[in-house]
Amino acid sequence: MKDSTTLMAMPQAPRDFGFWRDGKWVRGREKAERRSPAHGLPVTLTEKCTLEDLDDTVAVARRAFEDRRWSGLSGAARGTVLLRTADLLRRRRDEIAYWEVLENGKAITQARGEIDHCIACFETAAGAARLLHGDSFNSLGDALFGMVLREPVGVVGLITPWNFPFLILCERVPFILASGCTLVVKPSEVTSATTLILGEILTEAGLPDGVYNVVTGPGRTIGQALTAHPDVDMLSFTGSTAVGRSCVHAAADSNFKKLGLELGGKNPIIVFADSDLEDAADGAAFGVSFNSGQCCVSSSRLIVERSVAAEFEKLLADKMKKIVVGDPLDPATQIGAITTNAQFDTIFGFIERGQAEGATVVTGGKVLDFGRGQYIEPTLFSGVTRNMAIARDEIFGPVLSSFHFDTVDEAIEIANDTVYGLAASLWTKNIDKALTVTRRVRAGRFWVNTIMAGGPEMPLGGFKQSGWGRETGLYGVEEYTQVKSVHIEIGKRSHWVS
Ligand code: NDP
Repeated sequence: MKDSTTLMAMPQAPRDFGFWRDGKWVRGREKAERRSPAHGLPVTLTEKCTLEDLDDTVAVARRAFEDRRWSGLSGAARGTVLLRTADLLRRRRDEIAYWEVLENGKAITQARGEIDHCIACFETAAGAARLLHGDSFNSLGDALFGMVLREPVGVVGLITPWNFPFLILCERVPFILASGCTLVVKPSEVTSATTLILGEILTEAGLPDGVYNVVTGPGRTIGQALTAHPDVDMLSFTGSTAVGRSCVHAAADSNFKKLGLELGGKNPIIVFADSDLEDAADGAAFGVSFNSGQCCVSSSRLIVERSVAAEFEKLLADKMKKIVVGDPLDPATQIGAITTNAQFDTIFGFIERGQAEGATVVTGGKVLDFGRGQYIEPTLFSGVTRNMAIARDEIFGPVLSSFHFDTVDEAIEIANDTVYGLAASLWTKNIDKALTVTRRVRAGRFWVNTIMAGGPEMPLGGFKQSGWGRETGLYGVEEYTQVKSVHIEIGKRSHWVS
């Protein structure tokens, strides 16, 4: 492993952030220190907000919503702010990518690519702000006219995780802003920097104060209080299924706030014998290893046709061995560090359990020791049975379990044998198989002969216990609206009381 100082300098001292409220930094609370998971050095300091800070911040977002400083603007005016934000992000791309790497441990080239996707999210949402519209009913008879209005849902609480701190934020914020809502964001305490930087950028782009606010602190206190806050109209949560479930309870016990949930996955990658096996092996290597497998749409179950299973597992293992794991600040690195100690223990615990339950490691399975930081080799298991923990639970790491099938029906049955339904990938050159499997596997995002491709025009979200609602595209803007039916009498009313 090269010394990162010869690649890109580490900060001299941790960067000290306030939290972002009403267009300004607020400071003076107890601090949380974040160390780079790849280097073990302190990189950022953030504020531990109090519950009173949260109440005050929700009140700021409420005022900004009620006085219509944002929702009262035209879609074109909102779109202009979003386009200016995209321009500013383009200028600060490398800086944002750098902080993302230091807090999260992901590879710098990947982080820069993610910021490009974030810019595209703002540009897409800018167009959507202008196109958002309702409907009309000219079919209610001569005496009545019907209109369906789309109105912003109000104050949105947004809780984001540590695996894609800026990307997941930007797959939501511009679409929420396009709808006219105001926000209080609670990023993961370990990856708050880029969410805070966005506050500064949005203000520079002309977003009115109080529309985008960020509180920082631990999920179990500040996050939990946001889910239960009676003055938050909608909560968008991305993270574990367990906390997603607690959001549902908190919403029911407080004010029945509307919920958007993007939760866990146990995503299948189905490979038929008639596919381009080289392409499929490359797709599978990418699908399981990208972002160290800490990705809700990561492939984690390989379902491969028995007649080519041995050949395919060898092709895939050869690819996985060549993946460059290392210092995320090195531009040659493909996958970097595991983001948190807890996640490192979780992933390695699953690898040990898989072996203890009788599965065979085809490649990987070991911790990589570079003298600092926490790294795990991309790992492929064969001989996996469906009751094993590695077959059923979300691992959220670079670990793939292989299953074999003989018929199309069997492939579909194995793919659907999970409580989750977030994403699926399918490899075949046969159009009948492609369409049949796509129709019958229950997943919110589907890739045929590709994987993790697409843009912010397309919606994302899950079936089953992978969540509720859709983000991005026009679907993503509509998610943050309420529908109001308006009935207008034409002419003189026919009287009820004569
Ligand atoms: P969590 O669900 O705990 O964290 C996600 C977000 O929720 C973070 O911002 C966290 O804040 C916050 N949070 C934590 N507890 C609460 C709470 N009680 N109420 C409200 N918000 C809360 O995920 P973990 O970080 O613990 O990861 C555990 C597992 O979750 C992973 O192994 C993976 O399987 C899954 N996961 C899935 C993700 C996805 O994209 N679908 C993303 C992340 C995790 P803070 O970090 O400050 O505690």
